Amino acid sequence: MVGSVQVGDGAPVSVQSMTTTKTDDVQATLIQIHELATQGADIVRVAVPHEADARALPLIVREGGVPIVADIHFSVRLAMMAVEAGVHALRLNPGNIRNPRHVKEVADAAKERRIPIRIGVNAGSLDKKLVAKYGRPTAEALVESALYEIGLLEEQGFYDIKVSVKHQNVPEMIAAYRQLADRTDAPLHLGVTEAGTPKQGVVKSTLGIGTLLAEGIGDTIRVSLTADPVEEVKYGKQILNALGLRKDTGDLVACPSCGRAELDVVALTEEVEAALEKMDLPPMQVAVMGCEVNGPGEARDADIGIAAGPGRGLLFSKGKQIGWVPHDRLVQSLLEEAQRIGDEIRAASGTTADGDGVVVTGAGRRPPTMSIGMGPPGE
Ligand code: SF4
Repeated sequence: MVGSVQVGDGAPVSVQSMTTTKTDDVQATLIQIHELATQGADIVRVAVPHEADARALPLIVREGGVPIVADIHFSVRLAMMAVEAGVHALRLNPGNIRNPRHVKEVADAAKERRIPIRIGVNAGSLDKKLVAKYGRPTAEALVESALYEIGLLEEQGFYDIKVSVKHQNVPEMIAAYRQLADRTDAPLHLGVTEAGTPKQGVVKSTLGIGTLLAEGIGDTIRVSLTADPVEEVKYGKQILNALGLRKDTGDLVACPSCGRAELDVVALTEEVEAALEKMDLPPMQVAVMGCEVNGPGEARDADIGIAAGPGRGLLFSKGKQIGWVPHDRLVQSLLEEAQRIGDEIRAASGTTADGDGVVVTGAGRRPPTMSIGMGPPGE
């Protein structure tokens, strides 16, 4: 458990992100944590490089509203301050602390307070000896490092462990997690490290994280992006959504357009997407299709859909044909229907616009969970 969030052992895959503020700037950090939580972050990590950051933790933990992970690298003192502050997890590599007596001190304190520790092995900061042994930070090197770190904690009788083996190279990252999944039962935190800006980072993360999740490997994820961390949460949720592992974001189905399109599908879809983002609707699937050839099938299958024809488009709602609407009223009609369906979903589930429950599906590390269905919104 990371606070109230279960990680592993069949729990829904959780989405994490990390604040970019200076942690000792409590107000800025809390604002960002709240933004992340509002977007759907289940767990938020904060960097604790200095004592001032550690001193800020009690307030951040109390006011954060989501489980907080303190990212500690080398300092026993900061780790102990974080434990005292009541953080919900530590990210710490015992190998960095070196002195077994100090490792024991942290492990005992964390154990007493039931605070799990994530061991975070990273290709960029791998032990030089392992890099020398393998020639570069290979998947095998990352796994050897992770098993060594796990061993250091287990020697102290500490087993509440979560592990990551992040690499910036996607095939290497996938190989590392596959190997690690065969060697440990600890829950795995997935991520492609230093993935870059969303332009490249989303593709890398989707491939790395998505491939593993599709195989049933992974219990919690972070899409690391050189961007506002809110983007990390949005994309993380979309990955889980696309795999059917969670259902707490809407799904916009749109055709790519072609010579058959009866209107500007790209502009229409962008308009619909922007409007839907502002509407705070419960999760639903909306389809925007450019013609009457392939359009009606997809539009009918979605919760709401439009298939454009010459001068007008066919509006579908929950599989039923509602009627023809002129092009200049298509967006408005679709959004009105989306609102009506959204209100119906909320009324049926007893939730409000602010209080939508997250719809989740079981997704442990094994067996593969791709075929697990999704419950109704608000479940
Ligand atoms: S739905 Fe129609 S317009 Fe869109 S890509 Fe398919 S054939 Fe082309």
